[in-house]
Amino acid sequence: MTAHLTPEVRGLLSADALGWLDKPPLDPFIDGNWRTARSDTHIEVVDPGTGTPVTSYTAASAGDVADAVAAARAAFDDGRWSELDPETREEKLRHLADLLAADAETVAQLEALDTGKTLAEARLDIDEAVAVLRYYAGWATKVEGSVIPAPRRYMATGTREAIGVCAAITPWNYPLPILMYKLAPALAFGNTFVAKPSEQTVLSTAYLAQLCAAAGIPDGVVNVAPGAGATGAALTATPGIDKIAFTGSTRTGQAVMRAAADTLTKVSLELGGKSPQLVFADADLDAAIAGVMAGIWTNAGQVCIAGSRLIVDRRIHDEFVAELADRTRRLSLGHGLAPTTTLGPLISSTQRDRVNALIEQAAQDGAHVETAAELPDRDGYFIAPTIVTGARPGQSIEREEVFGPVLTVLPFDTEDEAVRLANDSAYGLASAVWSQNASRVHRVARRLRAGTVWANTYGVFHPTLPFGGVKASGFGRELGSDAVEHYTELKTTVIDL
Ligand code: NDP
Repeated sequence: MTAHLTPEVRGLLSADALGWLDKPPLDPFIDGNWRTARSDTHIEVVDPGTGTPVTSYTAASAGDVADAVAAARAAFDDGRWSELDPETREEKLRHLADLLAADAETVAQLEALDTGKTLAEARLDIDEAVAVLRYYAGWATKVEGSVIPAPRRYMATGTREAIGVCAAITPWNYPLPILMYKLAPALAFGNTFVAKPSEQTVLSTAYLAQLCAAAGIPDGVVNVAPGAGATGAALTATPGIDKIAFTGSTRTGQAVMRAAADTLTKVSLELGGKSPQLVFADADLDAAIAGVMAGIWTNAGQVCIAGSRLIVDRRIHDEFVAELADRTRRLSLGHGLAPTTTLGPLISSTQRDRVNALIEQAAQDGAHVETAAELPDRDGYFIAPTIVTGARPGQSIEREEVFGPVLTVLPFDTEDEAVRLANDSAYGLASAVWSQNASRVHRVARRLRAGTVWANTYGVFHPTLPFGGVKASGFGRELGSDAVEHYTELKTTVIDL
């Protein structure tokens, strides 16, 4: 009997998804087995679209985490994965991708249920995860070394080798794609892996662990330790890990980095953002409005690259904001699995209350707060999409990462002022410039302090495109060929001839 689904939600899920939820494998996955967690911390899996608990699991303890790391260590040290021929690793990863693609609809439904995102968004997430896995499967056979022009009496080579045990700590907004940005390159290059998903979104990671077993990835190569912050902290403190890849808040990223200093573990950090979208009067305004909407309302604004600061030419400010509000009113808030929903709930009541407090603070600070679109008349953690105008630079709504459907708008008079406002942020993850003047696009793109600049588009992700931030948005790049550097070590071999 499937636990605690409302009749509405039960009716929206397929028989396969319901069957899986009947007995979800949410125990720690260690050395190819699901083991009973040795802790008394029980965590509920909550449906954000109804606010009801769906099922629950027991968090991995520090001892479970140590076992997971030990299993990954043993699997690395005996070479059961790293010593395979690269084409064998490629085949197994392609097999895993095929299994995930075959179950894509089931996984998308589970992801929509777990995160609250719309089913359409969840389907894109799973497609992206499959694409990233296939891309890095191909890399397994593509990494080459070099012959180094050392003095003639020596033969010197540079070769790329697996690092060892890689750990991933992932957040709740894009559970499967963000996991795959880390797992796919790690496995392609021969590393072994321990994943710690967000306590709030464990379903898709658990599903993937099952698929890894079915794909013939050897036991111990992929391990999962589900749990909350304490489980993540235990993971960062456990010796035997060679690299930690983290995505989440800047504050937790700092904690991860501090812990990694004690064990001298490599880290890469993909942290928060407060990304600006610069709209010039010479832009294709129809396309710009669509891009601004996609940038901020996607995933109900719970996106690290959310284009949460609209910086718009004063001459078109009023007209642009009016049209934006008008189109926003046509969004339909509801349960993520419902086919009519175009904007889902936030992940939790905590997050909803946090976002509401930031909106209230903005109003108290004198900004104009406009709520566009209706709140649905139902339970669940909903926030109406909100447009904040008239905020002064420096106000909390304008500086803090809201992680909800809230857009602040600032006008500018000159290109210099637009760039200055855009760069006036602790963060530097993404940015966009909207203009049909090619010289302006290049000029502004060059001056924006961000890991990614999109021009006349927003949020384009692809396995080939490196992604990451500067400043408080972190460091290290995921996706693309940069992963070679992050998931391998360079070995120099020198032979006296
Ligand atoms: P966190 O940064 O706390 O969570 C990210 C991951 O880190 C989760 O798996 C979390 O576990 C884990 N974690 C928590 N504490 C520790 C620790 N001490 N050591 C190691 N791992 C830890 O984000 P929150 O979920 O609390 O979200 C808070 C805010 O962070 C959001 O409002 C948003 O501003 C930002 N954020 C940014 C994201 C991005 O993509 N850049 C993604 C998510 C959040 P658990 O979730 O179980 O606590």
